[in-house]
Amino acid sequence: MKPDVSHTVRTLRLRLKDKHSALLLEHARAVNCVWSFCNELSVKHFERQRAFLSAHDMQPYTKGAGKELGLHSQTVQTIQEEYVTRRKQFKKVKLRWRVSGGARRSLGWIPFKASAVRYKVGQVWYAGQPLSLWDSHGLSHYELGAGSFSEDSRGRWYFNVTVKTPELVGPPAPKPITSVGIDLGLKAFLTTSDGEAVDAHRFYRDLEPQLATAQRAGKKHRVKALHAKVANRRKDALHKLSTRLVNSYGAIFVGDVNASGLAQTRMAKSVLDAGWSQFRTMQQYKCDDAGVWFEEVNEAYTTQTCSCCASRTGPKGAAGLGIRGWQCEACGTVHDRDTNAAQNILARGLARLAEGTPKWSAVGSINSPALQAGE
Ligand SMILES: [Zn+2]
Repeated sequence: MKPDVSHTVRTLRLRLKDKHSALLLEHARAVNCVWSFCNELSVKHFERQRAFLSAHDMQPYTKGAGKELGLHSQTVQTIQEEYVTRRKQFKKVKLRWRVSGGARRSLGWIPFKASAVRYKVGQVWYAGQPLSLWDSHGLSHYELGAGSFSEDSRGRWYFNVTVKTPELVGPPAPKPITSVGIDLGLKAFLTTSDGEAVDAHRFYRDLEPQLATAQRAGKKHRVKALHAKVANRRKDALHKLSTRLVNSYGAIFVGDVNASGLAQTRMAKSVLDAGWSQFRTMQQYKCDDAGVWFEEVNEAYTTQTCSCCASRTGPKGAAGLGIRGWQCEACGTVHDRDTNAAQNILARGLARLAEGTPKWSAVGSINSPALQAGE
């Protein structure tokens, strides 16, 4: 069955008053400090043991750090979880530092779990401090979940919070945040659960004949220049696409499709891989900045499973690759192959949020492990 939980999780983003900037920056520095500590600890442990520390393993090392740094103790825990998730995601032994000063300063980010924030007469309390904000949503009507404080590039601070089951009475409810599932593919670069298909490839397709000609003629410089041009246009197209998506949705779930598993040739592999992972990286940081929920979802069987009745009646295997549309034998629904997959991805993402066991996504994004703590 298709879990319909789209209305139980919402993310709200509220602007904090500027007078708190100094305090929040101080917290952000503390967060960066914990992050750096995790980075160092993790690297050292790896060098000695050739094994990775889990977030849980790190906990004893940071005991009391929250108090010392003025952070909520669960914030420290949340940073560790985030660190580990990122390390896995990027498959790196060492991650980039979060920088507190200078030109390359990281934008402030302070994650929290549900139990770390409280709403009281127009203010949000965090780590013993009341923070004033423009309460555009009527926070008193919600039960606050996990989230983060985040800074934008202009130095403004936001309170990003997940809320559950808003009451139906009260001030005008915020516009429900719509979520979307995204299937990355070969035919269409991307298909959304709303049925939109985007072919990012079209932006540089016209360069391909030129590239082939140059390759045949053995013009190395020309080939190199054309490759660069293709890469540029693709990047540009993906920027536009990811920006549009982050402006349209409050939660974005993307299938974790892996190019090496799909592409037949070496060339196809490199081309596709670059596009997919580039897109996911862009989408992730844009979501982080905007406080939009972003998560990669396991896409196994999303093509074969009927998004209406969940029976696995869809096209299977290599023979099914060419099939664009199909009808479910069990419930009779007619599906577009990719839209159906995107709908399954959306359902999976939402189900994980509801269960409270999601893989944690991004720095600055509103987060879900915290939903566990918020239960
Ligand atoms: Zn069906």
